[in-house]
Amino acid sequence: TDFKSDKQPTWCPGCGDFGTMNGMMKALAETGNDPDNTFVVAGIGCSGKIGTYMHSYALHGVHGRALPVGIGVKMANPNLEVMVAGGDGDGYSIGAGHFIHAVRRNVDMSYVVMDNRIYGLTKGQASPTSREDFETGTTPDGPKQPPVNPKALALSAGATFIAQSFSSDAQRHAEIIQQAIEHDGFGFVNVYSPCVTFNDVDTYDYFRDAIVDLDETDHDPNNRDQAKDKILESDKEYMGVLYQNEDSVPFEQREGIDSSMAEIPDGAPEGAMDLVREFY
Ligand code: SF4
Repeated sequence: TDFKSDKQPTWCPGCGDFGTMNGMMKALAETGNDPDNTFVVAGIGCSGKIGTYMHSYALHGVHGRALPVGIGVKMANPNLEVMVAGGDGDGYSIGAGHFIHAVRRNVDMSYVVMDNRIYGLTKGQASPTSREDFETGTTPDGPKQPPVNPKALALSAGATFIAQSFSSDAQRHAEIIQQAIEHDGFGFVNVYSPCVTFNDVDTYDYFRDAIVDLDETDHDPNNRDQAKDKILESDKEYMGVLYQNEDSVPFEQREGIDSSMAEIPDGAPEGAMDLVREFY
């Protein structure tokens, strides 16, 4: 698509991040966006390289801090399509605080987390979403603590859109990302995106066998209680939109919020806001 840059990804052959990125590019195109109005902010980790491989405006943020940068971009120029991408290590460890506050602020943007349940770039340490008994070089008997449930965190923080996707199911994945983009508010999508090099437990085969597509159930994503029950079922892997609040009003459209052209705050580097505006 127009969103593919000419850089060759250095991800390991077979990495789930390829499928995750392809779906993001397809969904951006399907929703009528193009590289000139799209701004991708990435964190650090294997997933963080995505801004280089996509053809759009992009910023490679610091570890766990991509969300506040993305919010800043969107508030400075609401005409941009802002997509923040990251990984489970990046987003749910050092970035966990930003995640909760981005969710409750509900700025109209999307957040795609490539969740492979391990730190890949630093060669295979347990991440916040690793299983309690997942053996790694640094946790030989497992982390001995329950994994973070990012969808439960999001729901409890007042999320207006929560979805789960799987990088290997190309069509469903692109559809789910598209729904997140089209949502009026913060569209959060956790994507199972297997690490073929360091995680031999949460593999393609595991997810293929375990995943239940919500579209094939009677799940109602507008019913928060149903969403809560599904999200808290720790022995199930669901795919699809778990929750969507159709009355969502994005932060920047709320009364009294003037995001159109924020003043340059004291202490900001001279010209910083102009730079962001010029991207559009
Ligand atoms: Fe993908 Fe894992 Fe390789 Fe990183 S280490 S590129 S997550 S397969």
